Amino acid sequence: MPFLSIPEKVSLIILLIASFVLFSRRLQHVIKQIRASKPEVDFQLNPIGRRLWDFSWEVLCQAKVIRERPLPGIAHAFVFWGFGAFALVTLNHVATGLGFPFLERHSYFGRIYWWFAFTFATLVAVSITGLFIRRFIVRPKWLEPLSPESGVIAALIFLLMATYIPMWWFPEVTTTGHVLWWIHTIALLAFLPLIPHTKHLHLLLSPATIFLSRGGFSKIPPLAGDEDFGLDTGKDFTKLTTLQVHSCVECGRCTEHCPANNTGKELNPKQIALGLRTYLNEYGTASDTPIVGATISQTAIFQCTTCGACEYQCPVGIEHLPMIIGLRRSEVNTGRWEDEHGTKLFLNLERQGNAMGFSVTERDKFIAKQELPIFDGSQEYCLWLGCMGAYDPRGREIISAFGEVMRHTGTTFGVLKKEKCTGDPARRLGNDLVFGQLAESNIAALTQTGAKRLVSICPHCVRTIAEDWKEFGVQVEIEHHSEFMARHLHLLPSTGKEKSVVFHDPCYLGRYRDIYDQPRDVIAKSASVIDPPRARERSFCCGAGGGLVFLSEETGERVNHARAKELADTGADIVGAACPFCNSMFRDALGSTSTNPPELLDIAQIAAASIRSQAVK
Ligand code: SF4
Ligand code: SF4
Repeated sequence: MPFLSIPEKVSLIILLIASFVLFSRRLQHVIKQIRASKPEVDFQLNPIGRRLWDFSWEVLCQAKVIRERPLPGIAHAFVFWGFGAFALVTLNHVATGLGFPFLERHSYFGRIYWWFAFTFATLVAVSITGLFIRRFIVRPKWLEPLSPESGVIAALIFLLMATYIPMWWFPEVTTTGHVLWWIHTIALLAFLPLIPHTKHLHLLLSPATIFLSRGGFSKIPPLAGDEDFGLDTGKDFTKLTTLQVHSCVECGRCTEHCPANNTGKELNPKQIALGLRTYLNEYGTASDTPIVGATISQTAIFQCTTCGACEYQCPVGIEHLPMIIGLRRSEVNTGRWEDEHGTKLFLNLERQGNAMGFSVTERDKFIAKQELPIFDGSQEYCLWLGCMGAYDPRGREIISAFGEVMRHTGTTFGVLKKEKCTGDPARRLGNDLVFGQLAESNIAALTQTGAKRLVSICPHCVRTIAEDWKEFGVQVEIEHHSEFMARHLHLLPSTGKEKSVVFHDPCYLGRYRDIYDQPRDVIAKSASVIDPPRARERSFCCGAGGGLVFLSEETGERVNHARAKELADTGADIVGAACPFCNSMFRDALGSTSTNPPELLDIAQIAAASIRSQAVK
């Protein structure tokens, strides 16, 4: 039965048109911006199966949202599922006003559907109230600054539910039902244009963002050619970058886990995404204005350790590392980044082929002293020393210990006579020229010796060789020494477990390579393993990555000190490391945690010690 008068119907049609026009104008603008952005250099839709899985798991099931923040996550998931449940009800609501209802509430299907929607309405109302209280009363600092639009949106969603529920008892034809119908309609038509104008645009874009992600954790896309300087101006936004920054929901999960932000640095990964969005809104994709300096600070981008915690946490598939490295590239390639330590590092890499600037003869002397065999093609493995393993005193001790383990397992190995830095610090600091020179020189050395299987004590070397070198058309088989030792676990002695070891997951081994159990298994052969409060995927960075170990950390608390304290506070006898950079960062930091700090050992040193102790027995 029609219940709206003709003037009411006319008003409804005018409001509907106004709402749709405001909605679609902004959405069209965003879509135009995405289309006007540069294409992705190496984007591939395959494997489609992985994309469909990520979409189902992260979008439809809201698994990532719930996994990282269970209570607010489930509340958010109910709101999201509620939108789905309400789609039919909403269409029917408007159609009823226009005189064409299609969902009869007293029919068999209608009853079921109304109760289904009723249940969701209750859950959404409770959830949105909880999320409102959290954002505006509890106010975790990650959600700062408070956005009034969030309050308006929450109020509108609550109003939509609060007006829907009583309509079961007050149909539209009653006076109360009529008033409720209009309040519901106005809330709905006010909500619609707010979606593309606010962070709620993620409702429309994030399914695409997640489905179209670059794939591969923290993948750095290649430059498009000699004229590509990185993410310098509006013209350098790629389609994915534009899509991603418009998808940010401002939840602050990235910032909550960022080691730089947690230790008082200027860097805030949420503000990287939002800074790029502000740039797009103010300057657009055709602008020649440099991004750094306009909406993002240079200091902030060079405080990133590339730990990947932000990217791991982001519920809408935003990939921060390609953005941060892209911005660094622009600063390095245009010469705007003037940093004494950075300049020295690049010179060391160019002239000496190692990050510390040692003469290569130092490496030769170490190889001779340790009697490490030179790889000649006859051995099973090529042991990659890396800068730390070749020149750093503690890194050398790790190499020596791992050599003992390899010999104990009966594995033959040799080291390259000519090996340079993999290019990791240059790559992460945005100097692709130096990275390319180092990678090509190393690839030539490997090709010359015929080395096919590599093993390294350094997760940064593993990552760079296995992933970043692909840009030069090679696919090198390399594994981390934790993987090697875990595969030979049956050959490692089981000794008493009197000592406890707290294991620090290196970012480049855990989040980047998904290796968590192997180092723990190695330690567990001779000691009891303890996890610090932030472990495995949520491990807190040591502060070394992204080339930062070679720069100076000047602002706030030192990242390595914060992490060393957390590790020492577990009361473990030993801090177990699986990366020479983590090792070097904790070396001094542990000393500052107490007068009796825990011992610091690499997992190879723990394994070698148990081999030695067994030999003595
Ligand atoms: S990669 Fe790590 S240090 Fe860099 S912004 Fe993300 S969380 Fe912060
Ligand atoms: S970038 Fe991702 S994690 Fe960070 S605030 Fe935006 S949506 Fe949240």
